[in-house]
Amino acid sequence: MALPRVAVFSLGGTISSTDSGGKGVEPTLTGEALVSDVPEIAEAAEVSAISFRQAASGELTVDDLVELASEIEDRIDEGASGAVVTQGTDTIEETAFVLDLLVDRDAPVVVTGAMRNPTLAGADGPANLLASIQVAVSEATRELGAVVVLNDEIHAARFVRKTHTSNPATFRSYPVGPVGWISEDVPRVVVRPVGRHKITLPGDTQDRPVALHTFTLGDDGRLLPEIERQGYAGLVVEALGGGHVPSITVDALEDLAAKMPVILASRTGGGEVLRSTYGFIGSETDLLERGLIYAGPLDGLKARLYLALLLRAGATREEIRNSFDSWLDVPVSS
Ligand code: ASP
Repeated sequence: MALPRVAVFSLGGTISSTDSGGKGVEPTLTGEALVSDVPEIAEAAEVSAISFRQAASGELTVDDLVELASEIEDRIDEGASGAVVTQGTDTIEETAFVLDLLVDRDAPVVVTGAMRNPTLAGADGPANLLASIQVAVSEATRELGAVVVLNDEIHAARFVRKTHTSNPATFRSYPVGPVGWISEDVPRVVVRPVGRHKITLPGDTQDRPVALHTFTLGDDGRLLPEIERQGYAGLVVEALGGGHVPSITVDALEDLAAKMPVILASRTGGGEVLRSTYGFIGSETDLLERGLIYAGPLDGLKARLYLALLLRAGATREEIRNSFDSWLDVPVSS
């Protein structure tokens, strides 16, 4: 019987990094080399390997991901059962989120990498790649959107975060945990996120840079006027706690919010931004009244990418506001 087809796109990162005579390891291995290093893959799928980029993941851009998303859709339309992306783990939570929003297909899109490079004992790249191929051909993972697979766990793109600099168990999903796992070569999905969020970009999409500012103790907001001067099209603020900033900064934020979308997220990394609890100057109620847009449950990194893609799609201020609100359009128990 013919094996299912999987397209593997390699982008570089630790999984592909070897000692090339420099100061440390660097991305050098091609997609084909990664695949041929794991003979078990040939038993699970017929793989075509595409060396899409060869870089540390901090070199990737949203433009790269727009191109990648379109190539993934092409491969799926040509008959691939799923796609696997290998890349550096540093930005996986961002790239997987973008692919989740842009790839408009039911087939699995799996993003993976490695925490231990191929020169180290216990390198995890081969096991992660094999597990990702198994997820990419699994019926159980269809219609899940983009997922991140490392360390035998399956994480939904919208929840996943890198939480440790070197531990192979670095990926965690907040607030729900992984949506599934791989055991004895079989992927299992035990949780499905509610709803899918999609963004359709025009063919001639242009970069719309969005800044991210994390508020800190004693922050006087002196960087804020620079956001407009530097040509940003939008701003995400990671505010304190439930959505608070020092009062000295509110005029600058209100001024910016009159000129560009300014999204109110929280630096805490968990929970929804508040809407109606505190009333002091610089509180969430004050900032929303001053025109900031509510990020809901999205953290700063994801809110920044969501806004950048909405701006590329030409969304109006009202559409941006409604789109962020839609992340909370889930059934509420009465
Ligand atoms: N610096 C690497 C990267 O490209 C780290 C990794 O792959 O884990 O993100």
